[in-house]
Amino acid sequence: MKLIFLGPPGAGKGTQAKIFTQKYDIPQLSTGDMLRAAVAAGTEVGKKAKAIMDKGGLVPDEVVNQIVADRISESDCINGFILDGYPRTVGQAKALFDILKSRGTDLDAVIEFEVDEDKLLERMKKRVEETLKAGGEVRSDDNPETFAKRLAEYHEKTAPLSKFYTETGHLHTVDGMAEISAVAAEVEKLLKEAEAS
Ligand code: AMP
Repeated sequence: MKLIFLGPPGAGKGTQAKIFTQKYDIPQLSTGDMLRAAVAAGTEVGKKAKAIMDKGGLVPDEVVNQIVADRISESDCINGFILDGYPRTVGQAKALFDILKSRGTDLDAVIEFEVDEDKLLERMKKRVEETLKAGGEVRSDDNPETFAKRLAEYHEKTAPLSKFYTETGHLHTVDGMAEISAVAAEVEKLLKEAEAS
């Protein structure tokens, strides 16, 4: 299964991706995680990305497209993958089609998590609290100011992907405000339908 999980920050894409990587035995490819790893490792990409990420902006398309093209060529992606946080622009979505086409394959489905935006800031704060309680490190972009910028970027640059993937026939929408298990059940139902069609 080659899947995209789409939705604003805090919509639950990462949580659901973790559930489905186990069910389908495919990796979760989070461009945010890959970029944070590059920042931590101090690579050239990481150095360029850090300032942009700290401000809640988007890293240039050509940088993330290359990261994804390299990553999906790895052997653990042979049976598919879940893209979490990519594509984030129509340019990235078009590049992804080209990347997959060049490998003789296509997407299976795009799952969009619909959420009540007023609740997203609360979710982010809860994530920060839970991370601190567990003794983990809080993301430098998980603060109210940067979160607002990330949401604005989503509206401007990522939200148009709903229309894009409706037109390509890949889009399925789920209620991202339900309980985690209920959201997962809805996603599973949609994926079974997509597999059968
Ligand atoms: P995330 O972990 O998905 O919330 O991403 C954290 C940050 O990494 C974003 O706010 C962006 O700065 C950057 N980022 C992650 N994925 C992408 C992408 N597909 N395109 C551009 N920037 C990205």
